[in-house]
Amino acid sequence: MEHISLLIIGSGPAGYTAAIYAGRAGLKPVVLEGLQPGGQLTITTEVENFPGFPDGIDANMLMDDMRRQAERFGAEIRSISVIRADLGKRPMQVWTDDENEIQADSIIIATGASAKYLGLSDEQKYMGQGVSACATCDGFFYRKKTVAVVGGGDTACEEALYLAGLAAKVYMIVRKPFLRASQIMQQRVADNQKIEVLYETNTLGLYGDNGVEGAHLVYKKGQEEERIYDLPIDGFFLAIGHTPNSQLFQPWVKTDETGYIITEGDTPRTGIDGLFAAGDVADPRYRQAIVAAASGAKAAIEAEKYLQSL
Ligand code: NDP
Repeated sequence: MEHISLLIIGSGPAGYTAAIYAGRAGLKPVVLEGLQPGGQLTITTEVENFPGFPDGIDANMLMDDMRRQAERFGAEIRSISVIRADLGKRPMQVWTDDENEIQADSIIIATGASAKYLGLSDEQKYMGQGVSACATCDGFFYRKKTVAVVGGGDTACEEALYLAGLAAKVYMIVRKPFLRASQIMQQRVADNQKIEVLYETNTLGLYGDNGVEGAHLVYKKGQEEERIYDLPIDGFFLAIGHTPNSQLFQPWVKTDETGYIITEGDTPRTGIDGLFAAGDVADPRYRQAIVAAASGAKAAIEAEKYLQSL
């Protein structure tokens, strides 16, 4: 069985940054890329808020560059996924989908989080062409346009408020007759002239020949007053929650009720020797590429210290 000193699981900004730092420290990290090489950024188009790129950068190019940078310092990147883990024994052990077993003295979990979608086929069809799950990433492209945000929680309100600063009009599509968000967020939404909340409304599909041009909506579905209508919009933003990809590790790490890994204070330490968590899998709050990259750097530094102590 293979035995390595540092295994990095995940290949978003956190995983690759951890690999760059660990590679430069001579740790020869192995990165398991998982099902979405490059992570969530690869489903957006252009990244304009990552420092160092004054003219913006194509998201896939940014992730390819991070990957090459990690390889340049000796990281070995494999296109495989972890299917099982035992983090209770030493060395820790994972099983991969190419039927291998890897033992590792230290592991950085950087598996990210996945935005939830409604499950409509149109979401796939218009992905990156009007459908987004990140207003901070893509909102800028909707300046002076009309957009809709699906969801009634704090994230949806935050996204709607952010978009209202850019777009001409923001609809919130909320399936219940009320918002689930905190009072303060509800108040901010109510005070914003550009935001209109469509309560008791569900999305049936999207339409448009050139990207999203509108949504098919249903008001009071299944009730006497049911009304199906089309809402012209340019952008359709999902804000119905995220699922952290922590399932495989939950028997060992502490998580909050949603599954985000709880780390010690402002560090990537999980409380288990040699095991660290970086990026969105441990970040219910910011969920930004630059924040994930920074936490990947911290995790590599912590892993290096840990490995030196062995
Ligand atoms: P939430 O689970 O709180 O809200 C999800 C929203 O999406 C709900 O309105 C829910 O509707 C709706 N929804 C879920 N599934 C569907 C569906 N299939 N179709 C239509 N609507 C759907 O998630 P958030 O991401 O908003 O928040 C997660 C946590 O993070 C919360 O604890 C929140 O308070 C916190 N947070 C705090 C912030 C802050 O403090 N500024 C900012 C962002 C998040 P329904 O109500 O009907 O279930």
